[in-house]
Amino acid sequence: MRIIIIGGIAAGMSAAAKLRRLDKEAEVVVYEKSPHVSFGACGLPYYVGGFFDNEAQMLARTPQQLIASGIELYIEHEVLQVIPETKTLQIKDLKTGTIKEDHYDTLMIATGASSIMPPIENLELKNVHTLRSMSDGKTLREALRKPEVKRVGIIGAGFIGLEAVEAAKALGKEVAVFQLEDRILKEVFDKEVTQLLEAELKAHDVALYLNSKVTALRGEGYATHIVTENEEIPVDLVLLATGVRPNTAFLDNTDIERLRNGAIVVDQEGKTSLPGVYAAGDCATVPHLLKGEPAYIPLATSANKLGRIVGENLAGNHEVFEGTLGSSCIKLMNMEAGRTGLSEAEAESMGLDYKTVFITDKNQTDYYPGQEDLSIKLIYDANTKILLGGQVVGRKDAVQRTNVLAVAIYARLTTKQLGMLDLCYAPPFARTWDAINIAGN
Ligand code: FAD
Repeated sequence: MRIIIIGGIAAGMSAAAKLRRLDKEAEVVVYEKSPHVSFGACGLPYYVGGFFDNEAQMLARTPQQLIASGIELYIEHEVLQVIPETKTLQIKDLKTGTIKEDHYDTLMIATGASSIMPPIENLELKNVHTLRSMSDGKTLREALRKPEVKRVGIIGAGFIGLEAVEAAKALGKEVAVFQLEDRILKEVFDKEVTQLLEAELKAHDVALYLNSKVTALRGEGYATHIVTENEEIPVDLVLLATGVRPNTAFLDNTDIERLRNGAIVVDQEGKTSLPGVYAAGDCATVPHLLKGEPAYIPLATSANKLGRIVGENLAGNHEVFEGTLGSSCIKLMNMEAGRTGLSEAEAESMGLDYKTVFITDKNQTDYYPGQEDLSIKLIYDANTKILLGGQVVGRKDAVQRTNVLAVAIYARLTTKQLGMLDLCYAPPFARTWDAINIAGN
């Protein structure tokens, strides 16, 4: 058996490592376009901001370690085409420019996603950056350290744009954020949460331009201004963070089933519509526990989990990934927020008969140092009271409480059960009735 995996980061390497452990005989081959494997892009904002300095800490394994484990690894090799009829790949060696063919018995596509380049004029100017790869991170880190770079303009207020705010502020920069929509993180959190996060940005003197469509960058060689429909804001550096698009254009010659954004549709085993072809990670959909249809939620958590499941199945098993809850979180200056399950906007768009509650309580007792406000939103079925979603925001312990809600939603608990759930209590950590209990009650 010759099993080929395209892409050697979270999904691809999770699959390769699992497969190698389970099947000692198969030829396990990985083609990776970049010079790196097992790279944790999640560390990039903190590397850029100087929270740590050794970029090797973002690499879980080296190519040499993988080769030593018995994986046939080709870095700096780009797969140009998949021909399913003959189970053939066309591959370009990016160092020599030579093109070769390879044949697979089974294939996994784990090619991830790339930064979207929106229709904004002059994106080719030299001080315009994206943040996705190791080389993006190194270039941005270096650029942000130049003393002449004082004003940073960030286009896009999703996870990556906002994590970059913290990086730029840590380096003492003035920051302006431009968001097309009327609030930040609109696809992730409901308004009760985003308005608290927006207040946190403003408290740190971040200029927030909402409902703001950037049309162009202005400057000779370097961008000096971000131009919106209403104004021109001076900047010394621009970061584009307007979302990602699955890297699946090289499959255009096939009839593999994809969503409109190009994400490959997979089932719970990670199988695509092409026989013998699996996919996982940011290039693919992920089964959703509550939505009843594949979702596109490009996160490392699902890439690793579905990647490992695909590794099992490449070894001949039939493991299933039960599904994501879309659990995700962010630290924004001194606040943190997490979400899991359905947001209210999602419950509404699914036509569910739901109710919500939003409370503000405390993370712990007042007599132990460190008491902070904690706000919790629950979305639950109006009839059965079974939990559908939860969001928690505060300065301390919000994200780990979101994890409690993820378990509760997975276990189909009702609000009443959440209200009586036996959660830990000692003065430094909670109050006798934890904020989660209070939200449930
Ligand atoms: P990728 O990591 O994109 O890897 C795909 C690989 O395939 C790439 O190395 C690429 O070079 C290679 N490739 C592409 N096309 C080809 C081809 N034709 N031939 C050969 N190789 C190819 N997720 C979280 O859950 N939490 C976080 O806090 C978080 N923070 C993030 C912060 C940043 C700045 C970024 C950029 C992402 C963050 N993510 C986070 C998302 C997370 O990094 C991704 O979900 C994860 O990397 C997806 O893994 P993947 O293997 O699917 O794809």
